[in-house]
Amino acid sequence: MPQSASLYTAGGAPTAMRNIAEAADETTVTAGARRFRGKNKGPAWKRPADGPVTVVRLRLTPDPAARHRLEGLFGAAWKLKKALKHDARSRALAYEAAHRRRRNPGRAKLWRTRLGLSRDALERAAYRHLDASRHLKHHLSKAVAMHLADEVWTGVERHLFPDASGRRHGVPKVGSWWEFTRIPGRARSHTTARKWETFRLHGTLSGHLAGHAAPGLPDGVSPRQAAESAPGTGVLAQPRTMPVPPPPRSRGRGKGVWWEYDGALTVVYGGGPDGRRGDLVVPVRLPQGAGQWPHLLHTLADPQAWHKVDLVRRRDPAEPGGWAYEAHLMVLKPAFVPASTAARRATAPTGRRGGVDGNVSNLAVVSVPAGQAPADPIPGEPARPERAAAAPTRTTEASPDAAVISSKVTMSDAEQTRIARRERKRRGRQRALERSRRASNAAQYGLSKRQRKRQRRRQATGLPPRQVPVPGGPRLLRADGKPRRSYRRDTVSKTYLRLRVRQAVADQRAAQSRKTRARHSAGGIVAVHGPSLVIEDCDISGWFRLWGRACARFTPGMLITALEHECRAAGGRLVRASTRTTALSQHCPCGRRVPKHLGMRTHRCRTEDGGCGLTGDRDLIAAALAAFVHFQDPDDPSTARVDYTLSRRVLCTAGPGLPGALSESTALIPTTGASGAGTGNAAAIHHTRRRRRSPRPRERRQVASARRNRISTVSTPDEPCPPTTAGTTVTPDRHRPRTRLFNRPPPQDLSNRP
Ligand SMILES: [Zn+2]
Repeated sequence: MPQSASLYTAGGAPTAMRNIAEAADETTVTAGARRFRGKNKGPAWKRPADGPVTVVRLRLTPDPAARHRLEGLFGAAWKLKKALKHDARSRALAYEAAHRRRRNPGRAKLWRTRLGLSRDALERAAYRHLDASRHLKHHLSKAVAMHLADEVWTGVERHLFPDASGRRHGVPKVGSWWEFTRIPGRARSHTTARKWETFRLHGTLSGHLAGHAAPGLPDGVSPRQAAESAPGTGVLAQPRTMPVPPPPRSRGRGKGVWWEYDGALTVVYGGGPDGRRGDLVVPVRLPQGAGQWPHLLHTLADPQAWHKVDLVRRRDPAEPGGWAYEAHLMVLKPAFVPASTAARRATAPTGRRGGVDGNVSNLAVVSVPAGQAPADPIPGEPARPERAAAAPTRTTEASPDAAVISSKVTMSDAEQTRIARRERKRRGRQRALERSRRASNAAQYGLSKRQRKRQRRRQATGLPPRQVPVPGGPRLLRADGKPRRSYRRDTVSKTYLRLRVRQAVADQRAAQSRKTRARHSAGGIVAVHGPSLVIEDCDISGWFRLWGRACARFTPGMLITALEHECRAAGGRLVRASTRTTALSQHCPCGRRVPKHLGMRTHRCRTEDGGCGLTGDRDLIAAALAAFVHFQDPDDPSTARVDYTLSRRVLCTAGPGLPGALSESTALIPTTGASGAGTGNAAAIHHTRRRRRSPRPRERRQVASARRNRISTVSTPDEPCPPTTAGTTVTPDRHRPRTRLFNRPPPQDLSNRP
């Protein structure tokens, strides 16, 4: 009986455990029926709540046997989680239904206890499932079951109890196998040596370097020395499939044996209590390439800081089975900051105060020297006249002491073109998926208008009805408007599965590219305007409802979040000001209210209406005004007020130079960094991507367009084969006559890409 099972016996002890306990009682007679280890005597170790945490993604390279086991492990974990989610959902629905009981907090609590709506009860349910279906125990340990139950409980908890803002989540859903990508591991013990259950990381960074050093490195070089070698020196040279290390020779016995291993990094999992296949050993392939080694040295050099390993899978059409496996290692250390980033943050101007105006498709930032802006949190600090007098001249290039600097972050034309191309490809794939689904489930769809018309015409002329391979009409519905057969019961082809993986990977890359862009822009903004910024506290989800597509392209929320992180990292803060108390876009810096609807992109404070005469870009003026917001309490956005005395002095009475800064960017922020930034080719994800094959031959491209133009060489079932051109060009598989396709063996796995 392995250790892991004996730990969690609080609720229902497994039968095997009971048997052992009873057997022990027979020999020692005196004790009671069952014996447990009992509670911890000392104070439990706890991870500091605000301590630094970094997650490192380690790519796993399983051999076919290990891959098969990993697939089994994920299959078993999903079965258990699905059962738990069904349990949780039905219990939550039963709780919802008893509305009278829920009114009284005491009775509600009792009802929850009776239904088993608690973390403890869900964990016990998980153990019962595990005991009831013994085959799951080949793969899953009780610790894994417990963690899966805890994850399910988190969702239920969010549904049952409101959060700080009074909101609750909906009834937890069951989800699908395709969304199940993570098996949580168990944290290592930080008080007892050699105690780490579930997934463990063994080996050392120096062992890894000793095993896979690049040819140019001197023998016996330490990881630190390798980091100090000249730029451009390769450190690691790992094979594509890493060798599986043999179990280390041990002076001790049993499972502890891996603790004496100091070779290349390897993830080890003991398997379930009934597993008979020994440890699952999967070698790790570290990212190798420019700038990777210092990162690895920072996160992996100290095994004492390793905390927990989760097993994660991610779709990858290049992998056999369509899934790539990763170990996500949580390290109790702050994230690695490259020297260039640290230098950029160190030189960010601290003597400035900026305002940010977020929009659907741009971000406007204006900053002024801190002496001209109100100091926080002291409200209404008097202005310093000498600064105000020495103020604004038109700034053509950003310098740290320029009076007013403005930047507008938008998407460049090249970026917009790239995004448009990406979206076009996405739509194309989506259409192909839909076409494939319709073709495989033709009985579930009606005919399109044109197809119906054609059938009628044939009928009228006495021709037999024609078979329609891809019906173009709507899905057949029941009387209540639901699909006659649920989508998940559809038959899907191999091509469909393959295409869906490609779609998922493309989405993943697009998301990564958006994140990278947001980080780059935030870094650029803070480098120019400093880390003390004020932004209007706006509801971006509302923008998504109105301008979803533009928002999804520009991702203003992601940019603002990245800006918040960057400000904190550079020692400042992004403070939020309430729209209600400031109304930045509806005011002039002189204090006058200048109402503008959304279509008016230019701010004009007319002199004939008694205004100051300021004209400028609407967004930049709102951003400039945000720089003059002061707070009673910076944590409470509703205490924000604009200091118009100051803003009038700096922005409206400054002379002819200033409107330049308020009508166009005076400091450009590069939206994307190096060439790789926009493509989602982040090193962390795609470090082991296979080399791209040479560009496709010309013929295939022509065929793709032929499909678009509806000139297909595929014969429909009731049509004779089209004449083939005698030996001129090779027709790709997809467009060969059907008869040829039946003679070919079906593709073996998903690595057979079209
Ligand atoms: Zn004005």
